[in-house]
Amino acid sequence: MAYAFFGGVHPHDMKAATNAKAIQQLPPPAEVVIPMSMHFGAPCTPLVKVGDEVKVGQKIGEFRGLGAPIHASVSGKVKAVEPRPYSMGGNMMAVVIENDFQDTLSEEVQAPADPDALSVEEMIEAVKNAGIVGMGGATFPTHVKISGGIGKVDTVIINGAECEPYITGDHRTLLERTEEFIGGCKYLAKMFGVDKVVIGIEVNKQDAINKLNETIAKTQAPVAVEPLRCRYPQGGEKQLCQAVTGKQVPPGALPANIGCAVFNVNTTCAIYRAIAKGMPVVSKVVTVSGSGVIEPKNLECPIGTPVSCLFDECGGLKDNTYKIIAGGPMMGMAQYTCDIPVGKGTGSMLAFADKEEQTVANPQCIRCGKCVAACPMHLEPLFMYQYAEKGMVDELNEAHIMDCMECGACAYACPARMHLTHMFKTGKQLVKDKMAADKAAAEAKKAAEEKKEAVAK
Ligand code: SF4
Ligand code: SF4
Repeated sequence: MAYAFFGGVHPHDMKAATNAKAIQQLPPPAEVVIPMSMHFGAPCTPLVKVGDEVKVGQKIGEFRGLGAPIHASVSGKVKAVEPRPYSMGGNMMAVVIENDFQDTLSEEVQAPADPDALSVEEMIEAVKNAGIVGMGGATFPTHVKISGGIGKVDTVIINGAECEPYITGDHRTLLERTEEFIGGCKYLAKMFGVDKVVIGIEVNKQDAINKLNETIAKTQAPVAVEPLRCRYPQGGEKQLCQAVTGKQVPPGALPANIGCAVFNVNTTCAIYRAIAKGMPVVSKVVTVSGSGVIEPKNLECPIGTPVSCLFDECGGLKDNTYKIIAGGPMMGMAQYTCDIPVGKGTGSMLAFADKEEQTVANPQCIRCGKCVAACPMHLEPLFMYQYAEKGMVDELNEAHIMDCMECGACAYACPARMHLTHMFKTGKQLVKDKMAADKAAAEAKKAAEEKKEAVAK
């Protein structure tokens, strides 16, 4: 039985432009620009240099600490290893590969003789070597989530909500790659030692629900489908856990603290390809949509494909396009250039034309409280806004601003069109800066005291 979560909003899903369109392969790009940071954690170190020949699936970036390796998505010659623009803003070290259009597979890609005979440790190792991260946008390394959850997690949930407007890549994947998805679910069930995994899926994807139920019945797969009412941000990990299990993740805690682990649909497919075929993450399904796109589509392309190629394949952008967003309209990031590459977490590229954005030059809060009712994290956005505007860091902390997941539900609900989410990003940075300054001051004080003690001795 599905449960409700507190707050949320119900924007028009805007999915009709692409939800009936099959995933199409993008014609191979002439070059790919593969950023060395496509995961939560420190950037990878490039393993190749200019002039090297590389093959599809060859490791070209190695991580240290928290992270995931990065692989070549096309075969060809390394043209540059240099900082390039990327979707998170600014520049990031990238490996630029000139495509030879041969699609030569690397010898490093080796399928196991019998994937079903692999131990849990071997499966986790395969997931790690494949460079899998949360492909819904969070980009947290999947092998860390799995190994950290084993022994604590009794409910494995697949996030099929895809609650952000416009995006339909997961919906199409469930319809078109059902067997692969179910295969990934089986491996997750085996790794966590659970009887079944639950896929939470919003009821605006009834065709996918039907297809999943048919396949599960036919294959006796350890998967249960949980239809959910449409509500944004149902795809937030904490909201999905509550919608599926009825249990709330406490503030500052993770789903694992209530025995849950959540995985994205395309991450689950990537887990299947890694374990069954030894294939690393080299491609991504991206929804290209919005009023600025001539012919919206779902496209699959090599990681590192310039987003300009995606828009070209969709007939280009309308002349009066004024905004490009990487990600969904609620949580995505506005971009200043189409010269950014598709990364592991890029689920959609949106372009908007005409006069869709309704901004107000000098918005004034009318204290209606709608933002409070909309916030799924039980926060008080109207007060947080004032504290952030005035730089009141202690008050921001007391208002639990660090629990804000920047979902934008409050901004959507606000009749005054206050720039709430933007201000919370600023506010969170103020809190982080203060924490870093306090830590540095405490360490300096401790070092000074130790020095004083040493001199006294
Ligand atoms: S952006 Fe933050 S404050 Fe606004 S609704 Fe989402 S979690 Fe709440
Ligand atoms: S919804 Fe907007 S106008 Fe209403 S209280 Fe919140 S910030 Fe103020």
